[in-house]
Amino acid sequence: MSEKFETAAIHAGQPTDPLTGAVVPAVHHSSTFAQDGVGNLRDGYEYARSDNPTRRALEANLAALESVDLDAGVKQNVRAFAFASGLAAEDNVMRAFLAPGDHLVVPNDAYGGTTRLAKQVLPKWGVEHSVVDLSDLAAVAQMLSSRPTKLIWAETPTNPLLRVADIAALAKLAHEAGALLVVDNTFASPYLQQPLALGADVVIHSTTKYIGGHSDVIGGAAIVRDEAHAEQIRFLQNASGAVPGPDDCYLLLRGTKTLAVRMQRHCENARAVAEFLNDHPQVTETYWPGLVSHPGHEVAKRQMRDFGGMVSFRHSGGPDAAAMMAKNTQVFTLAESLGGVESLIEVPARMTHASVAETEVAVPPDLVRLSVGIEHIDDILVDLDKALAG
Ligand SMILES: *Cc1c(COP(=O)(O)O)cnc(C)c1O
Repeated sequence: MSEKFETAAIHAGQPTDPLTGAVVPAVHHSSTFAQDGVGNLRDGYEYARSDNPTRRALEANLAALESVDLDAGVKQNVRAFAFASGLAAEDNVMRAFLAPGDHLVVPNDAYGGTTRLAKQVLPKWGVEHSVVDLSDLAAVAQMLSSRPTKLIWAETPTNPLLRVADIAALAKLAHEAGALLVVDNTFASPYLQQPLALGADVVIHSTTKYIGGHSDVIGGAAIVRDEAHAEQIRFLQNASGAVPGPDDCYLLLRGTKTLAVRMQRHCENARAVAEFLNDHPQVTETYWPGLVSHPGHEVAKRQMRDFGGMVSFRHSGGPDAAAMMAKNTQVFTLAESLGGVESLIEVPARMTHASVAETEVAVPPDLVRLSVGIEHIDDILVDLDKALAG
């Protein structure tokens, strides 16, 4: 019914309640559902791990948000599955599509939890992985021709260096090699980027971030456009049971209604922050895909509506100055995570990325990562300026 993103965000999966007229979906806490005779279920509801009306509403909503740009035929089959966290969604997708002896490709700057699953969990089950720089398509092609690969795991823009991978090109390479392409779309959100429309097979979200948007819920989702893939994930979602509770689903549904307007402001503020930092004498390098100097700018322009709310930069004073600055901001809260309405600041090498120090995915020690919130831009810039002055 709804064709545009903003409209789907508010209405998809949540029609007015036919019984009461409630315009907001009910939060169904019931763990079980009465049957009208043995095995005769009302609207398919049996037990809340398998399905629950609030979760069903969220899943329909998320499926719509990732498929508004797809043509009608494909769109029909897009299905979303909600999980208790982004990593639960990742684990489910990996186990749904990989078996002992399989090989997967992960990016050289994947989210730390993704690298941890590939390095410390999957090998125990006989699944091997290789680390490749996905912005280097020749390196990806070389890897695919050197060993049979089941799955390419992509993330774009990446965390925390905001590297950009070409989703359409990766999908083509993956499919020619008989592999699936999974795209972690957490940093962009479906408002800015729709990987399924670009050829990806699976989209992953940590809904904890922009989709929830208010730093008050942990959640994840996997979205697919092929019926057989949907069935594999649906089966494992129920079989392993890492599902979100109804209150979490409600918070996420509340979040998606304002996703478009929040993302617009996040992007607008991030642009001002990136331009400010780019000209600042205490900053040696600024990472934001919207800067024309960013190596992924052209690809980002092609596949994203705008460039997102995450900005990273290197402090000229070194690691200690970076840490001191992060402690001295007032509008920006010193904390991990991202994507909420409030601005957050962190030093990846000592916080989110401390566990990958001295590995191939290590980040510069003087790097500062900002999740630019939707406070007034003047307050944001004054805060950064003061903190940089020390
Ligand atoms: C946070 C995050 C995850 C993991 O999600 P959780 O909800 O914390 O489990 C995965 N990918 C990216 C890009 C993230 O930022």
